[in-house]
Amino acid sequence: MKTTPYFILTLLTFTMLAFLPNSFAQDDTSEYVVRVIYFYPNDIEPQESVPATLSSLVKDVQKFFADEMERHGFDRKTFKLETDENDQLIVQQVIGKFDNTHYYTHYYGDPSRYGAAETEINDKIDRSKNVIYLSWIDLYNPNTVEFQISGIGSGSSSKGRVLLRSTNFDFANIERIPQNHYIRAWTVIFHELGHAFGLNHDFRNDVYIMSYGAAPDQLSYCAAKWLRTHRYFNTNETAINDNTMIKMLTPEVNSTQISIRLKFEIADPDGLHHAMLITQAAQGLIDCKELSGYSSTVEFVTTNITADSTVVSLGVMDSHGNFKTGKFSVSISSFLASKVVPIPDANLAKAVHEALALTPTTSITQLDMLKLTTLKRSEKQEHEIFLNTR
Ligand SMILES: [Zn+2]
Repeated sequence: MKTTPYFILTLLTFTMLAFLPNSFAQDDTSEYVVRVIYFYPNDIEPQESVPATLSSLVKDVQKFFADEMERHGFDRKTFKLETDENDQLIVQQVIGKFDNTHYYTHYYGDPSRYGAAETEINDKIDRSKNVIYLSWIDLYNPNTVEFQISGIGSGSSSKGRVLLRSTNFDFANIERIPQNHYIRAWTVIFHELGHAFGLNHDFRNDVYIMSYGAAPDQLSYCAAKWLRTHRYFNTNETAINDNTMIKMLTPEVNSTQISIRLKFEIADPDGLHHAMLITQAAQGLIDCKELSGYSSTVEFVTTNITADSTVVSLGVMDSHGNFKTGKFSVSISSFLASKVVPIPDANLAKAVHEALALTPTTSITQLDMLKLTTLKRSEKQEHEIFLNTR
């Protein structure tokens, strides 16, 4: 069973956001750099070309963020890497306490997924600093020569982390790395850093780096707009961060257009910049809105709803590059109750009405249909249909 996806689902992003508090002025240590860690098991030699290869990869990603910002009409901004006085990438090496087999085994099926290596890397993290830690866990798979890579990423507006786990990646010299391996590594780094910067999945287009497309190579306009004021893209920004208020107003259903209108009241004394709506049904971004001023009401209209209750999140970026996410539960029973389901078959319609104890002239709605559990057609008499409810 060999099913390593390029990207491990990063639903973790949201849960992490909930636990990482906003940084306030008095706590700010103003680093805002991406620090690179190279982790390897204690029974294998570290690969010599690691610093050069990692440097090439992350600097390519760094440049690509700038290119994409420019393509969207913004200033060429990107994140900073931790480098020495000669502008060489600093790669902190971490030798694992255990051997390859240990880390290899404590990954698949491990509830924390990055298992033992993650625990040891967490010990190296200085939580008092505003740093995004990007760690490459270098393992080999004894069962195949195939190169595989996956990653997770999460972050608040001040801190973040990315864990990459590769098997059989030959750091060698840049020229010797197969191009598809290099591109795959580059894509995963780009995607997971996106999560570390607070970006969510965006499946609206397969070319977006935050999608699961086959060869994604674009930052969406929503993402670029988000990063425009992000602290990691504006390291000279002052550390102002007053609290953002996000409140959801009662959703409104438009039954003729079969859509739901979500409204949010937002306020921030630092000034508002951008808002992104994420829904559970879309498993990612629905849309984004440009904000201005210090308080605003934003509206989103969506038809992307599949259950009678759902969770929606609104990410709000302020003018000083700090963001906050508000998470809300939306009950859409009334919405589904407004969606009439036409049932042309008279016998089926009769059976549904009877099962739901509705009078024959009452419209059947999507909410009614959710109450039905099983359908059984009588073998002897074709017009006889039995329906159960829950
Ligand atoms: Zn992801």
